Amino acid sequence: MGTSGNFSAITSREPFRVCITASGNDKGELEETHFLEVDSSGEIVQGFGRPSAETPLHLALYRLLPEISCVLHTHSIWGVVLSDVFSSEIEIDGYEMLKGLSGVLTHEHLERIPIIENSQDYALLAARMEDALADAGNVHGIYLRRHGLYSWGTDVAEAKRHIEVLEYLFEAVARRSSWPS
Ligand SMILES: [Zn+2]
Repeated sequence: MGTSGNFSAITSREPFRVCITASGNDKGELEETHFLEVDSSGEIVQGFGRPSAETPLHLALYRLLPEISCVLHTHSIWGVVLSDVFSSEIEIDGYEMLKGLSGVLTHEHLERIPIIENSQDYALLAARMEDALADAGNVHGIYLRRHGLYSWGTDVAEAKRHIEVLEYLFEAVARRSSWPS
């Protein structure tokens, strides 16, 4: 909504290159000219416009999780609501849809999505992300409180699946929480 979110994928590992959405475009109407390519320090190699302000967070995830090649970031309602309700992590268990997360084979799985505090200091956010991943181990996403979700995958299709599955689960948990008992 409102040009929020940003998407990236690795286009080359040697030299390291990432294709990432330029700042300020409607993410539902992306065209070729809405992407640019950056190196491991976020310097523009080619493309159009200005890279997303959140580029350092994408680069931190690629550094910390060497097996991934796509990072997707969304701002959506249900996750934001849950990030207000839960303190340090969003807990989801018992849903069949959890099996859409790679490596999860049963609905009897507890998925914990770490929540980190939001900031406009992206270097600080990258450090918080690193700490959260070190503490959490194998997770499929990280939530920036009152901001949005970061998820990833070994390719674009897996990252898209993870984002969609997590958004579905956030909505299920949030709606259940507000249901009269
Ligand atoms: Zn964002």
